[in-house]
Amino acid sequence: MALGETLITESEIRGRVGTLAREVGAALPPGDLHCAVVLKSALFFAVDLLRALGREASLGFVSASSYGGGTESAGEVRLGLEAVGRVAGRHLLLIDDILDTGHTLAAARGALQALRPASLRTCVLLDKPSRRRVSIEADHVGFTIADVFVVGYGLDCAEAYRTLPDIRACRPGAPSAPDAKERPGCWNG
Ligand code: 5GP
Ligand code: MG
Repeated sequence: MALGETLITESEIRGRVGTLAREVGAALPPGDLHCAVVLKSALFFAVDLLRALGREASLGFVSASSYGGGTESAGEVRLGLEAVGRVAGRHLLLIDDILDTGHTLAAARGALQALRPASLRTCVLLDKPSRRRVSIEADHVGFTIADVFVVGYGLDCAEAYRTLPDIRACRPGAPSAPDAKERPGCWNG
């Protein structure tokens, strides 16, 4: 896999996360707030968002794996809710990195709704609407992007590139992406 162009710079991310935090803050009901972050790619975003939100909130985590081989999520999402924390009766903000086919957010939202929060809002950093397979929209979206596999700011390709400050395209290296097989989570088509 080869790093491609920068799609969103560090300063654009910083600016947008600030305005997004104000939007989310204005939409959230007052009262007991719990945030559930989908591991691991949403971590950088969630930390920056919650710091900018500037409101008392507790924190929990959801693990989700959906990618088998290639870049299309398989449709069957494995969810781990062991570290999600106490949800019942509380206002819940579900934070994920990217809304792609929609399988992951739909599964996570459904599983969390079953835990009976007082309210549930969803917030994603990135949205790729052209890739949607499940009818779902996030309540709050940072950036809408085209159908390109991206890395950086927490998003990885087989654990690489998470710590890049910008969001960049990631494409198979020419001519034959020799490492694609060893990186099953990456775009190889
Ligand atoms: P969905 O279930 O909506 O297809 O996929 C959502 C998950 O797939 C995201 O939470 C993310 O982990 C992963 N994903 C989808 N698109 C991308 C992408 O462009 N780059 C990276 N690094 N992960 C992606
Ligand atoms: Mg994710």
